[in-house]
Amino acid sequence: MAENRVVEGRMVTPNRLAELIEGEDVMDAEPIVDADRDCPDCGGDVLEVGYMPSIAEFVTGQKCQECGWSETDREE
Ligand SMILES: [Zn+2]
Repeated sequence: MAENRVVEGRMVTPNRLAELIEGEDVMDAEPIVDADRDCPDCGGDVLEVGYMPSIAEFVTGQKCQECGWSETDREE
């Protein structure tokens, strides 16, 4: 499917990408888009996905396609 993307050499779905960012299962995820930035660690392309880790929360996460770098817009 066109919405699947390659991350760290593996084809991932939006849900799988969100799980990589979150570190655990997520309830739902939006289609993956290209983030308008380069990875601060390796300079690789960064993908962005909006997802719901729980029913009451929506998070936008970013993940490098080449290395393990990721971050979210969640306020710590
Ligand atoms: Zn990277």
